[in-house]
Amino acid sequence: MSKTLFEKIAAREIPAGIVYEDNQVLAFRDINPQAPVHVLIVPKQPIPRISEAGLQDQQLLGHLLLKAAEVAQKLGLANGYRLVINNGPDGGETVPHLHCHILGGRHLAWPPG
Ligand code: AMP
Repeated sequence: MSKTLFEKIAAREIPAGIVYEDNQVLAFRDINPQAPVHVLIVPKQPIPRISEAGLQDQQLLGHLLLKAAEVAQKLGLANGYRLVINNGPDGGETVPHLHCHILGGRHLAWPPG
């Protein structure tokens, strides 16, 4: 199986602005930021998308969300932020390696487009 884009970033084969890493997850700056702070946090294990996660991923997904909150705090988003997971074509997913967007640094409108 060839590596996903985000596995290549984790392997340092593609450069990225890494802001957090541990043995389970990696967080790095989005290459096309949609807000003053736009970071992606991904499991190192390449689950394609949330609809394909299962019970065996429960610990990892909990860890991912808790670390997303920690990263947001570390990046100074005390006034709030948004976590987004796009799933499938209608959800706007473009990279088939589960990732959670951390968006902040400006007021974010609701509903999203
Ligand atoms: P999604 O549309 O939810 O699948 O999000 C994929 C995200 O990956 C987009 O926001 C892209 O800007 C971002 N992205 C694509 N390639 C890279 C890269 N090489 N480094 C950082 N972010 C990337």
